[in-house]
Amino acid sequence: MKAARFHAPGEPLKIEELPDPQPGRSQVVVNVEACGICGSDVHFWEGHAPVARTPITLGHEPAGTIEEVGEDVDGIEPGQRVVVRAGSSCRRCAACRAGQDGLCERSQVLGMHIDGGLAEQLLVNASEVLPVPDAVPLDQAAIIGDAVATPYHALVERGGLCPGETVAVFGCGGLGYHAIRIARLAGAATIIAVDVRTAALERAASAGADATVNASEERASRCIRELTGGVDLAIECIGRAESIGEAVKSLRRGGRAVVVGMGPEAIALPPPNVFTWSEYSLIGSFGSSAATAELLLAMAASGRLDLSQSITERLPLEDVNRGLELLRSPESDVVRIVVEPAN
Ligand SMILES: [Zn+2]
Ligand SMILES: [Zn+2]
Repeated sequence: MKAARFHAPGEPLKIEELPDPQPGRSQVVVNVEACGICGSDVHFWEGHAPVARTPITLGHEPAGTIEEVGEDVDGIEPGQRVVVRAGSSCRRCAACRAGQDGLCERSQVLGMHIDGGLAEQLLVNASEVLPVPDAVPLDQAAIIGDAVATPYHALVERGGLCPGETVAVFGCGGLGYHAIRIARLAGAATIIAVDVRTAALERAASAGADATVNASEERASRCIRELTGGVDLAIECIGRAESIGEAVKSLRRGGRAVVVGMGPEAIALPPPNVFTWSEYSLIGSFGSSAATAELLLAMAASGRLDLSQSITERLPLEDVNRGLELLRSPESDVVRIVVEPAN
Protein backbone atom coordinates (compact mmCIF):
# COMPACT_ATOMS: atom_id res chain seq x y z
CA MET A 1 0.00 0.00 0.00
CA LYS A 2 1.01 3.62 -0.57
CA ALA A 3 1.56 6.04 2.33
CA ALA A 4 2.62 9.71 2.63
CA ARG A 5 5.71 9.59 4.88
CA PHE A 6 7.25 12.44 6.85
CA HIS A 7 11.03 12.09 7.17
CA ALA A 8 12.34 15.49 8.32
CA PRO A 9 11.02 19.05 8.81
CA GLY A 10 10.88 21.07 5.61
CA GLU A 11 11.21 18.04 3.34
CA PRO A 12 8.23 17.14 1.13
CA LEU A 13 6.31 14.07 2.30
CA LYS A 14 7.38 11.02 0.29
CA ILE A 15 4.84 8.66 -1.22
CA GLU A 16 6.26 5.24 -0.34
CA GLU A 17 5.17 1.65 -0.84
CA LEU A 18 4.74 -0.15 2.52
CA PRO A 19 3.58 -3.70 3.33
CA ASP A 20 -0.22 -4.02 3.68
CA PRO A 21 -0.99 -3.94 7.43
CA GLN A 22 -2.23 -7.12 9.14
CA PRO A 23 -4.62 -6.75 12.09
CA GLY A 24 -3.60 -8.00 15.56
CA ARG A 25 -6.26 -9.76 17.66
CA SER A 26 -8.07 -6.55 18.70
CA GLN A 27 -7.21 -4.41 15.67
CA VAL A 28 -8.86 -3.48 12.40
CA VAL A 29 -7.52 -2.45 8.99
CA VAL A 30 -9.35 0.48 7.38
CA ASN A 31 -9.30 1.31 3.65
CA VAL A 32 -8.91 5.08 3.87
CA GLU A 33 -11.40 6.85 1.60
CA ALA A 34 -10.78 10.35 2.96
CA CYS A 35 -8.32 11.97 5.35
CA GLY A 36 -8.47 15.66 6.24
CA ILE A 37 -5.28 17.67 6.64
CA CYS A 38 -5.05 20.59 9.04
CA GLY A 39 -2.83 23.23 10.60
CA SER A 40 -1.29 20.66 12.97
CA ASP A 41 0.05 18.74 9.97
CA VAL A 42 1.70 21.94 8.77
CA HIS A 43 3.22 22.43 12.26
CA PHE A 44 4.67 18.87 12.14
CA TRP A 45 5.87 19.38 8.58
CA GLU A 46 7.62 22.65 9.41
CA GLY A 47 9.13 21.23 12.63
CA HIS A 48 7.20 23.59 14.96
CA ALA A 49 5.58 20.62 16.69
CA PRO A 50 7.42 17.34 17.24
CA VAL A 51 6.40 13.88 16.07
CA ALA A 52 7.36 10.88 18.22
CA ARG A 53 9.44 9.22 15.52
CA THR A 54 10.46 9.49 11.87
CA PRO A 55 9.68 8.37 9.31
CA ILE A 56 5.98 8.44 10.13
CA THR A 57 2.77 8.51 8.08
CA LEU A 58 0.93 11.77 8.86
CA GLY A 59 -2.86 12.23 8.97
CA HIS A 60 -5.23 12.29 11.94
CA GLU A 61 -8.64 12.79 10.27
CA PRO A 62 -9.31 9.51 8.46
CA ALA A 63 -12.54 7.77 7.49
CA GLY A 64 -13.10 4.74 5.31
CA THR A 65 -14.38 1.19 5.18
CA ILE A 66 -13.25 -1.79 7.23
CA GLU A 67 -11.04 -4.14 5.21
CA GLU A 68 -10.20 -6.76 7.84
CA VAL A 69 -10.79 -7.34 11.56
CA GLY A 70 -8.71 -9.23 14.16
CA GLU A 71 -10.04 -12.47 15.70
CA ASP A 72 -11.12 -10.85 19.00
CA VAL A 73 -12.99 -7.95 17.37
CA ASP A 74 -16.69 -7.97 18.02
CA GLY A 75 -19.39 -5.84 16.40
CA ILE A 76 -17.32 -4.46 13.52
CA GLU A 77 -17.58 -6.10 10.11
CA PRO A 78 -15.59 -5.82 6.87
CA GLY A 79 -17.26 -3.26 4.58
CA GLN A 80 -18.57 -1.16 7.49
CA ARG A 81 -18.13 2.62 7.14
CA VAL A 82 -16.14 4.12 10.00
CA VAL A 83 -14.34 7.23 11.17
CA VAL A 84 -11.14 6.79 13.20
CA ARG A 85 -10.45 8.79 16.37
CA ALA A 86 -7.40 11.08 16.06
CA GLY A 87 -6.15 10.14 19.52
CA SER A 88 -6.58 6.75 21.16
CA SER A 89 -7.84 6.36 24.73
CA CYS A 90 -6.93 3.59 27.18
CA ARG A 91 -10.26 3.64 29.12
CA ARG A 92 -8.32 2.95 32.33
CA CYS A 93 -6.42 6.14 33.30
CA ALA A 94 -7.88 8.80 35.62
CA ALA A 95 -8.89 11.08 32.70
CA CYS A 96 -10.61 8.24 30.83
CA ARG A 97 -12.45 7.13 33.98
CA ALA A 98 -13.58 10.74 34.49
CA GLY A 99 -15.15 10.70 31.02
CA GLN A 100 -12.40 12.89 29.54
CA ASP A 101 -11.07 10.35 27.05
CA GLY A 102 -9.81 13.23 24.87
CA LEU A 103 -7.21 13.81 27.63
CA CYS A 104 -6.17 10.16 28.01
CA GLU A 105 -2.75 9.98 29.68
CA ARG A 106 -1.70 7.14 27.37
CA SER A 107 -3.19 8.62 24.20
CA GLN A 108 -1.43 7.77 20.95
CA VAL A 109 -2.23 10.32 18.26
CA LEU A 110 -2.42 9.22 14.63
CA GLY A 111 0.27 10.81 12.49
CA MET A 112 2.16 11.96 15.59
CA HIS A 113 2.90 8.86 17.70
CA ILE A 114 1.72 6.13 15.33
CA ASP A 115 1.25 5.90 11.56
CA GLY A 116 -1.75 7.96 10.46
CA GLY A 117 -4.36 8.07 7.73
CA LEU A 118 -2.55 9.64 4.78
CA ALA A 119 -2.22 6.15 3.34
CA GLU A 120 -4.29 3.63 1.40
CA GLN A 121 -4.72 1.55 4.57
CA LEU A 122 -4.62 2.26 8.30
CA LEU A 123 -4.11 -0.16 11.20
CA VAL A 124 -5.83 0.84 14.49
CA ASN A 125 -7.32 -0.69 17.60
CA ALA A 126 -10.97 -1.59 17.04
CA SER A 127 -11.91 0.59 20.04
CA GLU A 128 -10.82 3.71 18.09
CA VAL A 129 -13.34 3.48 15.24
CA LEU A 130 -16.86 4.93 15.30
CA PRO A 131 -19.59 3.81 12.88
CA VAL A 132 -20.65 6.44 10.33
CA PRO A 133 -24.41 6.82 9.71
CA ASP A 134 -25.47 6.07 6.10
CA ALA A 135 -26.60 9.66 5.55
CA VAL A 136 -23.13 11.09 6.25
CA PRO A 137 -20.61 11.01 3.36
CA LEU A 138 -17.23 9.62 4.40
CA ASP A 139 -15.36 12.81 3.53
CA GLN A 140 -17.61 14.76 5.90
CA ALA A 141 -17.26 12.04 8.56
CA ALA A 142 -13.47 12.34 8.27
CA ILE A 143 -13.44 16.03 9.19
CA ILE A 144 -16.00 15.68 11.99
CA GLY A 145 -13.44 13.95 14.23
CA ASP A 146 -11.15 16.99 14.39
CA ALA A 147 -12.20 20.05 12.38
CA VAL A 148 -15.77 19.98 13.72
CA ALA A 149 -15.57 18.19 17.08
CA THR A 150 -12.59 20.27 18.26
CA PRO A 151 -14.41 23.65 18.03
CA TYR A 152 -17.57 22.05 19.48
CA HIS A 153 -15.59 20.91 22.52
CA ALA A 154 -13.97 24.36 22.79
CA LEU A 155 -17.18 26.39 22.51
CA VAL A 156 -19.75 24.23 24.22
CA GLU A 157 -17.92 21.92 26.63
CA ARG A 158 -14.97 24.13 27.64
CA GLY A 159 -16.39 27.60 26.92
CA GLY A 160 -19.88 26.82 28.25
CA LEU A 161 -21.62 28.64 25.39
CA CYS A 162 -25.23 29.44 26.30
CA PRO A 163 -28.09 30.54 24.02
CA GLY A 164 -28.22 34.31 23.67
CA GLU A 165 -24.51 34.91 24.23
CA THR A 166 -22.18 36.97 22.04
CA VAL A 167 -19.22 35.15 20.51
CA ALA A 168 -16.04 36.26 18.75
CA VAL A 169 -14.17 33.76 16.56
CA PHE A 170 -10.50 34.55 15.90
CA GLY A 171 -9.21 32.75 12.79
CA CYS A 172 -11.74 31.48 10.24
CA GLY A 173 -9.94 28.52 8.67
CA GLY A 174 -11.11 24.94 9.25
CA LEU A 175 -11.65 25.23 13.01
CA GLY A 176 -13.03 28.78 13.01
CA TYR A 177 -15.42 28.21 10.12
CA HIS A 178 -16.95 25.29 12.00
CA ALA A 179 -16.91 27.22 15.27
CA ILE A 180 -19.23 29.75 13.60
CA ARG A 181 -21.58 27.01 12.38
CA ILE A 182 -21.66 25.46 15.87
CA ALA A 183 -22.14 28.79 17.67
CA ARG A 184 -25.11 29.43 15.38
CA LEU A 185 -26.58 25.97 16.14
CA ALA A 186 -26.00 26.46 19.88
CA GLY A 187 -28.05 29.66 19.86
CA ALA A 188 -25.42 32.42 19.99
CA ALA A 189 -27.11 35.82 19.64
CA THR A 190 -24.28 37.58 17.82
CA ILE A 191 -21.19 36.08 16.21
CA ILE A 192 -18.22 38.21 15.13
CA ALA A 193 -15.58 36.67 12.86
CA VAL A 194 -11.97 37.89 12.84
CA ASP A 195 -9.39 37.04 10.19
CA VAL A 196 -6.84 38.79 7.98
CA ARG A 197 -8.10 37.20 4.74
CA THR A 198 -11.06 38.75 2.93
CA ALA A 199 -12.13 35.43 1.40
CA ALA A 200 -12.15 33.75 4.83
CA LEU A 201 -14.32 36.55 6.22
CA GLU A 202 -16.78 36.23 3.32
CA ARG A 203 -17.03 32.52 4.00
CA ALA A 204 -17.45 33.22 7.73
CA ALA A 205 -20.40 35.47 6.92
CA SER A 206 -21.95 32.70 4.79
CA ALA A 207 -21.52 30.27 7.71
CA GLY A 208 -23.48 32.56 10.03
CA ALA A 209 -21.24 35.35 11.31
CA ASP A 210 -23.21 38.56 11.90
CA ALA A 211 -20.21 40.86 11.56
CA THR A 212 -16.64 40.47 10.33
CA VAL A 213 -13.43 42.24 11.31
CA ASN A 214 -10.33 42.29 9.13
CA ALA A 215 -7.51 42.28 11.69
CA SER A 216 -4.97 43.44 9.08
CA GLU A 217 -6.91 46.72 8.77
CA GLU A 218 -8.21 47.41 12.26
CA ARG A 219 -7.62 46.44 15.87
CA ALA A 220 -9.95 43.46 16.41
CA SER A 221 -10.56 43.96 20.14
CA ARG A 222 -11.47 47.64 19.68
CA CYS A 223 -13.95 46.82 16.85
CA ILE A 224 -15.53 44.03 18.87
CA ARG A 225 -15.92 46.22 21.94
CA GLU A 226 -17.48 48.96 19.81
CA LEU A 227 -19.94 46.48 18.30
CA THR A 228 -20.88 44.57 21.46
CA GLY A 229 -19.43 46.27 24.53
CA GLY A 230 -17.31 43.11 24.92
CA VAL A 231 -18.25 39.51 24.06
CA ASP A 232 -19.26 36.76 26.49
CA LEU A 233 -17.04 34.19 24.79
CA ALA A 234 -14.05 34.42 22.43
CA ILE A 235 -12.47 31.42 20.74
CA GLU A 236 -8.96 31.62 19.33
CA CYS A 237 -8.27 29.12 16.54
CA ILE A 238 -4.83 30.30 15.40
CA GLY A 239 -2.43 29.65 18.29
CA ARG A 240 -0.59 32.99 18.16
CA ALA A 241 0.24 35.18 21.15
CA GLU A 242 -1.07 38.34 19.50
CA SER A 243 -4.50 36.98 18.61
CA ILE A 244 -4.87 35.30 22.04
CA GLY A 245 -4.19 38.70 23.62
CA GLU A 246 -6.76 40.31 21.34
CA ALA A 247 -9.29 37.59 22.21
CA VAL A 248 -8.93 38.35 25.94
CA LYS A 249 -9.15 42.12 25.30
CA SER A 250 -12.39 41.62 23.34
CA LEU A 251 -14.21 40.16 26.40
CA ARG A 252 -16.81 41.82 28.57
CA ARG A 253 -16.09 41.72 32.30
CA GLY A 254 -16.64 38.11 33.36
CA GLY A 255 -16.07 36.83 29.83
CA ARG A 256 -14.27 33.64 28.80
CA ALA A 257 -11.59 33.17 26.14
CA VAL A 258 -10.90 29.64 24.89
CA VAL A 259 -7.64 28.87 23.10
CA VAL A 260 -7.85 25.95 20.70
CA GLY A 261 -5.10 26.94 18.24
CA MET A 262 -1.70 25.32 18.83
CA GLY A 263 1.57 27.23 18.63
CA PRO A 264 4.95 27.74 20.34
CA GLU A 265 4.71 31.43 21.40
CA ALA A 266 4.40 32.46 25.08
CA ILE A 267 1.05 34.06 25.89
CA ALA A 268 0.96 37.63 27.25
CA LEU A 269 -2.05 38.56 29.40
CA PRO A 270 -3.31 41.93 30.69
CA PRO A 271 -1.88 42.90 34.12
CA PRO A 272 -3.65 41.43 37.19
CA ASN A 273 -5.21 44.87 37.83
CA VAL A 274 -7.24 44.28 34.68
CA PHE A 275 -7.35 40.49 34.47
CA THR A 276 -8.45 39.95 38.06
CA TRP A 277 -10.74 42.97 38.28
CA SER A 278 -12.48 41.86 35.08
CA GLU A 279 -12.78 38.21 36.19
CA TYR A 280 -11.57 37.04 32.80
CA SER A 281 -11.22 33.32 32.17
CA LEU A 282 -8.56 31.98 29.81
CA ILE A 283 -9.24 28.33 28.99
CA GLY A 284 -7.28 25.77 26.98
CA SER A 285 -9.12 23.23 24.85
CA PHE A 286 -7.74 20.17 23.10
CA GLY A 287 -9.47 17.80 20.71
CA SER A 288 -12.69 16.20 21.88
CA SER A 289 -14.10 13.00 23.30
CA ALA A 290 -15.50 10.09 21.31
CA ALA A 291 -18.96 10.93 22.65
CA THR A 292 -18.71 14.43 21.14
CA ALA A 293 -17.73 13.05 17.75
CA GLU A 294 -20.71 10.64 17.88
CA LEU A 295 -23.06 13.48 18.78
CA LEU A 296 -21.83 15.49 15.77
CA LEU A 297 -22.12 12.49 13.42
CA ALA A 298 -25.76 12.23 14.51
CA MET A 299 -26.30 15.96 13.93
CA ALA A 300 -24.78 15.68 10.45
CA ALA A 301 -26.95 12.63 9.70
CA SER A 302 -30.12 14.51 10.66
CA GLY A 303 -29.15 17.43 8.42
CA ARG A 304 -29.05 19.81 11.36
CA LEU A 305 -25.28 20.29 10.97
CA ASP A 306 -24.58 21.28 7.37
CA LEU A 307 -21.08 20.34 6.24
CA SER A 308 -21.79 20.54 2.50
CA GLN A 309 -19.59 23.65 2.11
CA SER A 310 -16.81 22.46 4.43
CA ILE A 311 -14.53 20.63 2.00
CA THR A 312 -13.00 23.13 -0.38
CA GLU A 313 -10.33 20.91 -1.95
CA ARG A 314 -10.02 17.19 -2.71
CA LEU A 315 -6.63 15.78 -3.61
CA PRO A 316 -5.20 12.35 -4.49
CA LEU A 317 -2.51 11.02 -2.12
CA GLU A 318 0.21 11.94 -4.63
CA ASP A 319 -0.71 15.66 -4.27
CA VAL A 320 -0.53 15.76 -0.46
CA ASN A 321 2.40 18.23 -0.50
CA ARG A 322 0.33 20.64 -2.58
CA GLY A 323 -2.34 20.43 0.12
CA LEU A 324 0.18 21.30 2.84
CA GLU A 325 1.46 24.23 0.75
CA LEU A 326 -2.10 25.47 0.29
CA LEU A 327 -2.74 25.31 4.04
CA ARG A 328 0.50 27.15 4.78
CA SER A 329 -0.05 29.94 2.26
CA PRO A 330 -1.60 33.07 3.82
CA GLU A 331 -3.29 33.84 0.48
CA SER A 332 -5.04 30.49 0.14
CA ASP A 333 -8.74 30.20 0.84
CA VAL A 334 -9.44 26.76 2.28
CA VAL A 335 -11.83 25.44 4.92
CA ARG A 336 -10.80 21.81 4.83
CA ILE A 337 -8.62 19.91 2.39
CA VAL A 338 -9.36 16.22 2.14
CA VAL A 339 -6.92 13.70 0.68
CA GLU A 340 -8.54 10.68 -0.97
CA PRO A 341 -6.01 7.81 -0.95
CA ALA A 342 -8.44 5.25 -2.39
CA ASN A 343 -8.91 7.26 -5.62
ZN1 LIG B 1 -5.91 18.50 13.28
ZN1 LIG C 1 -6.77 6.85 29.28
